[in-house]
Amino acid sequence: MDAAKRPCLQINTLNRFAEGEDCMPKMNYCPQCGKNLIEKEINDKIYLACSLDACNYVFWDNPIPVVSAIAEYKDDVILLRNKGWPEKVFGLVTGFLEKGESPENAVVREIQEEIGLRGKIEKFIGLYSFIQMNQLLIVYHVKCTGEITLGEEIQEIRHIAPDKLRTWDFGTGPALKDWLEMRKQKNS
Ligand SMILES: [Zn+2]
Repeated sequence: MDAAKRPCLQINTLNRFAEGEDCMPKMNYCPQCGKNLIEKEINDKIYLACSLDACNYVFWDNPIPVVSAIAEYKDDVILLRNKGWPEKVFGLVTGFLEKGESPENAVVREIQEEIGLRGKIEKFIGLYSFIQMNQLLIVYHVKCTGEITLGEEIQEIRHIAPDKLRTWDFGTGPALKDWLEMRKQKNS
């Protein structure tokens, strides 16, 4: 895998989530020397590594940072369903950082691309591990204005009042839960 192919790997990972498969990336050749990759045990874990002993390449498969927004619009939170996702699966706005981009800029850009709104960051909510996807989520509360236009990858969205939101236990769910808790404390 050369550097130019990395985005494809990330997109595959997302699509596999959509299909409910595990998200082990497919990679056959060493990006340093082109020889086959094989499974090697290192520190009690199995990694893809180069079959050539003289080449030390190991695919560490480090978690990928992903920005995510609790996008508040006209007092509701926007949940969205990507194309290809199962019918009842909705999530927060999420996306990868582009090269050289800060997480703050990335999350505002993703809101613009996915739902067409202007975002203003209200608060950094926290960092959350999404183990199943091998991602580190960087989550913000973002207030949005403008007119909604759905991006190419988005199938549909829902506007849900915070009091009506039901959270989920994985991925962005715990961040949403924390935000709702913070909100409750602020309002009480
Ligand atoms: Zn190699």
